[in-house]
Amino acid sequence: MKITGVKTYVLQGMIEDQSFGWSQRVTRTRQSVLCEVSTDEKITGVGEAFYFGGPAKIAANIISDVYGPLLMDKDPLDTSVIWDSLYNWTRDQGMKGVTISALSAIDIALWDIKGKAQGLPIFKLLGGAYRHKARAYATGLYEPQNVPNVIEALVNEAVGYKEEGFSGMKLKVGYGIDKDVSYVKAIRQAIGEEICLMVDANHAYNSSEAIQLAQKLERFDVYWFEEPVPPEDLEGYCEVRKKSNILIAGGECEYTRYGFRNLINLRAVDILQPDLCAAGGFTEIMKIVAMASAANIPLIPHVWGTNVGLAASLQLFANLPHFPERRFPAEPFFEYDRSAHPFREEVTLEKFVMKNGYLDIPERPGLGINLNLKFVEKHAL
Ligand code: CA
Repeated sequence: MKITGVKTYVLQGMIEDQSFGWSQRVTRTRQSVLCEVSTDEKITGVGEAFYFGGPAKIAANIISDVYGPLLMDKDPLDTSVIWDSLYNWTRDQGMKGVTISALSAIDIALWDIKGKAQGLPIFKLLGGAYRHKARAYATGLYEPQNVPNVIEALVNEAVGYKEEGFSGMKLKVGYGIDKDVSYVKAIRQAIGEEICLMVDANHAYNSSEAIQLAQKLERFDVYWFEEPVPPEDLEGYCEVRKKSNILIAGGECEYTRYGFRNLINLRAVDILQPDLCAAGGFTEIMKIVAMASAANIPLIPHVWGTNVGLAASLQLFANLPHFPERRFPAEPFFEYDRSAHPFREEVTLEKFVMKNGYLDIPERPGLGINLNLKFVEKHAL
């Protein structure tokens, strides 16, 4: 089989009155970068590049202008060989960030082709399913804009997730320690003790502030504290982790086995959170999973984006081993973004529905999805 074409789609939609904020900024738009790789055997694969913050078209340009020409006539089943050659092509100036997100999208599309060519879901190609459904936690509880009472709005949203059947949810913090504590306190009171509550500062603090916050949040039984400090501050992560009784999570801003090597070797986090659509796609994340398992550090993937990224992450999630294996293993949580998004579900023909707190993991070939080309082509920039 040979690769005959690479196409990208940059999608953008406004969320207007549902705009939301977190510790870094407020957003009114959502963007996504999808890529489609076609072959001479009429099998096409689809992938998504993690996007947040910069113009999405940068990732699309890297896919189409830099990697696209290098992929022509290559056998799409040679995923490792292709990954290494593309990475090496941009290595000098592209070891992290948007370059690796672009590479991730291509790698995911190649695995989709590989699965479709063999008639198997990707998790089978990775070695099988440790689970066939994913226990979802709700990512939401951003700072709502233009509401009379933020705490009241957050509490209503949290109670809504509980009523929908979520057994866990994640709240944004990083607005200042007192404000953070007041949000956590109100939500914990409203949802009761049974539901897992996580907090995410999106690297808003230095290590001493993060330690202060972690200690104040202990009495509210917070399950993990995500991105307490900036991703470059690995020593800060270690300081926070030593002085926090709440688990420390991070990794959505880290890339490839080389980046995760540092997080793992320093034991900077209790939970690693690589994003499949950012850290390097299936080929690379399996290496990160192997390193994490050798260090016995649990890995709970970061998930963000459209149904394409979601479908890919579900395939990975099926194949995530337990760290460590035991008779009654802890069940990992799957990140299920519930924040406002104008086209998250529209880009695929297949829909994902949570039932009793779980998402089914598709058993169809490849990623188990088909792009809704009519919608995607109509809304692409
Ligand atoms: Ca996060």
